[in-house]
Amino acid sequence: MSTESTATLTTRAWVDVDLGALVRNGAALQRHAGVPLVPMVKADAYGLGAVACARALERLDPMGFGVATVPEAEELRAAGIRRPVFVFSPLLPADFGAARVAAVTPTLGDPAAITAWIESGGGAWHLAIETGMHRAGLRWDEMAHVADLVRRLPPDGAFTHFHSSERNDGSWERQEERFLTALAALPARPALLHAQNSGGIVRRDASPWSFIRPGVFLYGVGSGDGAQLLPEPVAHVRARILELHDLQDGDTVSYGATWRAVGPRRVATLGIGYADGYRRSLGNKGAALLHGARTCVAGVVTMDMTMIDVTDIACAAGDIVTLCGRDGGSLITVEDVATAADFMSPYEVLTGLRQRLPRLYHEAVP
Ligand SMILES: *Cc1c(COP(=O)(O)O)cnc(C)c1O
Repeated sequence: MSTESTATLTTRAWVDVDLGALVRNGAALQRHAGVPLVPMVKADAYGLGAVACARALERLDPMGFGVATVPEAEELRAAGIRRPVFVFSPLLPADFGAARVAAVTPTLGDPAAITAWIESGGGAWHLAIETGMHRAGLRWDEMAHVADLVRRLPPDGAFTHFHSSERNDGSWERQEERFLTALAALPARPALLHAQNSGGIVRRDASPWSFIRPGVFLYGVGSGDGAQLLPEPVAHVRARILELHDLQDGDTVSYGATWRAVGPRRVATLGIGYADGYRRSLGNKGAALLHGARTCVAGVVTMDMTMIDVTDIACAAGDIVTLCGRDGGSLITVEDVATAADFMSPYEVLTGLRQRLPRLYHEAVP
């Protein structure tokens, strides 16, 4: 990207995406698990840009990529990505035509959908096995319902998905037992078996399966206590100071006047708001990094602007504030933002970053 276009993209607020860190996070998981990756790049790579992230992850020679919808797969194909693309939400037969054109591998568990896949021409597919989440796939103890179908068109793979992999509560182990029970009940074991998302990868040593399916760890979000690996931050949310305001004792800030100056205070207005995905619930709670100092959001986050207290920080209009990510030696993690936003899910913080924030790609954190 030219200096000029980068300059216009960074006059207000943006997300610096550290592709070097993304790839190192993927490499760390792959080394740890000892099997190939199928990076999950669904939901526009958790909001960070599917094509840019998938292209960077190609350096790790992944087995393929995981998405949630056929249009997401089409976007990867249009960008020239030729590896297998797995769609990890059930497809209805209405999507099968487009799925074949994009050469995607559906993941199916409903006997009627499997029958329709076979009768509409077949092709590679993976059997989704439901082991405790009751979201997608065929129940582990009902494999008899597909015995004839998997004889007619054997699936290339079979998998399950853990509901609480970020907890140390024995649940993924129990789900894995059910998965093994289901596999034993099939007429033949599919060649590719997979189960682990990020939390399931970092809570055990080498993977016993064919590949791993990490998502959130790649994008810089850890998996809680008990994780053997920590990711590097990838998303850095920046906003410029647009104005500075000197307040007198008793002056208030933003809608609802929830923040009140005690003595003289200085407040900076940032060009970012909840319409950018910087949540309204971060009002009076969100942290901000400015010139190596840490400060806090003052008052309610508005649609397009957010104020921070800069009383003790020398700064000027045009200076860059970090609301998530690294600024020099300081860091606000995605989990910190999520916790401050009334205990949101960090997944939702990332996928909630809106298109109004340009994504700028770098090989190292700028
Ligand atoms: C989203 C998803 C993943 C990745 O989960 P993370 O917790 O983000 O690592 C893996 N497998 C399936 C089926 C998914 O839908």
